[in-house]
Amino acid sequence: MEEARSLGQAVVDVIRELSGNTGAVLPLHEPEFAGNEWLYVKECLDTGWVSSAGRFVDRLEGELASFTGSKHAVAVVNGTAALHIALLLAGVQPDEEILVPSLTFVATANAIAHCHAIPHFVEVSAANLGLDAARLDAYLSEIGERRSDGGTYNRLTGKRIRAVVPMHTFGHPVELDKLVEVAERFNLIMIEDAAESLGSLYKGTPTGTIGQFGIVSFNGNKIMTTGGGGAILTQNSALAAKAKHLTTTAKLPHKWAFDHDAVGYNYRMPNLNAALGCAQLERVPEFLIRKRQLANRYRDRFQKLPGLKFLEEPAYATSNYWLNAIIIEQADEAVRDEILRLTNEAGFLARPVWTPLHELPMYRDCPRMLLPVTEKLHKQLINLPSGPAVLKEG
Ligand SMILES: *Cc1c(COP(=O)(O)O)cnc(C)c1O
Repeated sequence: MEEARSLGQAVVDVIRELSGNTGAVLPLHEPEFAGNEWLYVKECLDTGWVSSAGRFVDRLEGELASFTGSKHAVAVVNGTAALHIALLLAGVQPDEEILVPSLTFVATANAIAHCHAIPHFVEVSAANLGLDAARLDAYLSEIGERRSDGGTYNRLTGKRIRAVVPMHTFGHPVELDKLVEVAERFNLIMIEDAAESLGSLYKGTPTGTIGQFGIVSFNGNKIMTTGGGGAILTQNSALAAKAKHLTTTAKLPHKWAFDHDAVGYNYRMPNLNAALGCAQLERVPEFLIRKRQLANRYRDRFQKLPGLKFLEEPAYATSNYWLNAIIIEQADEAVRDEILRLTNEAGFLARPVWTPLHELPMYRDCPRMLLPVTEKLHKQLINLPSGPAVLKEG
């Protein structure tokens, strides 16, 4: 444990130095409201347009579409709801299997379960923490069976494998070319969980715009926030219209009548949240610059530290560096926890990565491949304070 202690102390020293020795508590990722947030939110209060209608929702959708280069963006109450609707509109049926990394936030699998479908856990690459397309290809070649309806079925369960949901971990884009090719070959729909990667580029193209759907999240700890919120991205106008319809109680437009043609959802983002979002989105280009500065500083310091590796963006991508991460060489939970203890005691709220989803009680019996990389990474990964406060004084 002596080694773990000195490694932990070294990490504390790096964060202390970068943050200018202020003694301030540094959360993992806090929001910053230094733009037009007050102005836009006040406008909602002054005009009374706080809820399910108002100009900020349309404006946020339009600005998100131009920022991401997506043809359409539909704002919703949170990223989980965005995933839920994207999966439904992708045609996911109850009891179908959806390929998803085990190394992701629980929301990715929950949205699948909300469709009464089954998460089928697959492995990630240690290089970028994203879904490993080569391994997926080999795995599907082994367990997948093509039937005359064109679908790929799981030989072991007899269930159709409908879709694949890659997730761009901490903002680092998944290697998508190979994955797109595998998805096409096995006739799988691809939905990108880009909740963490607003502003990240895969070979120059924004994440979330390559799959049939992409989703982003505006939770309080994401690169920009609407308090709570999310959006569905799609290039398909008919699907965008359906997403809007389904997330607004499937109401048929009429001056006064309440007619609905489906079991819809009340997932529309309130105008109050959209106002906050419009102001935050204006600041995202600056956030991206500052996040890259912080990542560069962390990388420079950690390069000189034996025993751990700083997670860098893949060569093919530009990451938004939402959360900075280090990978401890020694895969040992006790070492990880000692580093977490020391950083947290110093007021630097570092965190481990999520418990792999196949280890959670509700997903323990789901189908999966062998997941040694995921299980090892869980023992090695630590996220460092990555919000705007870290470099404030530095
Ligand atoms: C934040 C996040 C979501 C969505 O979360 P919400 O809190 O529902 O907005 C989904 N997937 C991942 C990987 C996330 O990090």
